[in-house]
Amino acid sequence: MRYEVVIGLEIHAELSTRSKAFCSCSTTFGAEPNTQCCPVCIGMPGVLPVMNKKALEYTIKAGLALNCNIAKYTKWDRKNYFYPDLPRACQISQYDMPVCQNGYLDIVVDDQVRRIGINRIHLEEDAGKLLHDPYMDHTLVDLNRSGVPLIEIVTEPDLRSAEEARIFLENLKTILQYIDVSDCKMQEGSLRCDVNVSVRPEGQEEFGERTEMKNLNSFRAVYRAIEYEASRQISILEEGGKVLRETRRWDDGVGRSFAMRTKEQAQDYRYFPESDLPPVEIEDEWIEKIRREIPELPAQRQKRYVEEYGLPEYDAGILTASIDLANYFEKCVEMYQNPKTVSNWLMGDFLRLVNERNIEIADVPVSPENLVNLLRLIDGKVISGPIAKTVFEEMFNTGKDPETIVEQKGLKQISDRDELVEIIKKVIEDNPKSVEDYRKGKKKAMGFLVGQTMKATKGRANPQLVNEILMEQLNK
Ligand code: ADP
Ligand code: ZN
Ligand code: MG
Repeated sequence: MRYEVVIGLEIHAELSTRSKAFCSCSTTFGAEPNTQCCPVCIGMPGVLPVMNKKALEYTIKAGLALNCNIAKYTKWDRKNYFYPDLPRACQISQYDMPVCQNGYLDIVVDDQVRRIGINRIHLEEDAGKLLHDPYMDHTLVDLNRSGVPLIEIVTEPDLRSAEEARIFLENLKTILQYIDVSDCKMQEGSLRCDVNVSVRPEGQEEFGERTEMKNLNSFRAVYRAIEYEASRQISILEEGGKVLRETRRWDDGVGRSFAMRTKEQAQDYRYFPESDLPPVEIEDEWIEKIRREIPELPAQRQKRYVEEYGLPEYDAGILTASIDLANYFEKCVEMYQNPKTVSNWLMGDFLRLVNERNIEIADVPVSPENLVNLLRLIDGKVISGPIAKTVFEEMFNTGKDPETIVEQKGLKQISDRDELVEIIKKVIEDNPKSVEDYRKGKKKAMGFLVGQTMKATKGRANPQLVNEILMEQLNK
């Protein structure tokens, strides 16, 4: 029997507001533990939370970008549970009247558009963080994160493979970054994902029983957890067993999931309305104002790059996958008329170095102006293509402009015919074997001689001229 995998995701994204959801404490990541909290965000008795308008605005913005209906009326609820990172013993969240509902995100999988439903997006607060100290055998709590605004995005169970889930998450992350509501840094925990997985025999209408894995913090972990969990469930069904509805813990190191608690042990959160925060009426005017602030989103931008710049779909997809890269590309193209050449450099050496150095696009020391200057040096035959790669790497390391590097390192292309003839005569003299091979019809020998000439000039010879002169000399 063949099985189909069914996946629904619950994604938590920390909003990039400067202050917390209900107080004015800073949200900056990485501060000394417990230096960014006050009685409100650690939930002392008798304090009064006040809604951060920006947080609500960002939630609406995310909802609009994901094609949701925005509620006219929304309210907050208390989700009650005890945990050491939550001194208040209840989280301010939203239960039955979330800010956003019934949206979708279209993704492309194997050249097909798949529409993934967004069930809801609600606004809530984050909890603190527990730090386990294995040497002291202690657990410490850092409440800097307590009260940071979060949106929870809940998808419909519309995803059908680990690969689809990965593509969805990548698209979602890109959109949240485009609209600038979350930095989505998974390594800092600002994007986390709960994964719900079930399987059913192919052709069966009804969904199978699902399990949930909480707080996965990399796309790779999400992918592996889904693959593992689907095959675990399939084995159970094949052996005639039943999948239990349970919460499981994914251990990425071991590559397995472990049962944590079953449905019977699931907590009842006893939601009830948050009495310290008034409900909010959201006016159409405000929604429309926020809608106008949404920039061109990645899918539109990708389409435009194909139509306006004549780029292949593939290039356009890579360039628009990051708003910083897309903006960088557009700055270059404003100054330089060949978009495909710019795209080749960005997708090639530029992204290779970004990945190797593990840095953000925004921190690349090469300005668009300097990349364009480099391309002009190639066009003007001042430097050869291979040398340009070396120059670019140097620009990337030092932030210097290409002219300075070419000047200082003496990298100008040799296009002086007489000079090259002398060098090539010497190469021919030093490699009689290859010359003989060439004359016997081994065309590969030519490549070797070109290589030797390049070596002799440290890559600076004009390749076209080298070919021309070599031919002349060999056919003499
Ligand atoms: P609950 O209220 O129990 O959390 P929800 O209906 O809110 O359940 O669903 C939570 C998540 O589980 C959603 O992302 C949803 O798409 C997903 N989900 C629901 N049913 C299934 C299923 N049978 N298989 C996989 N995912 C599911
Ligand atoms: Zn505070
Ligand atoms: Mg739910």
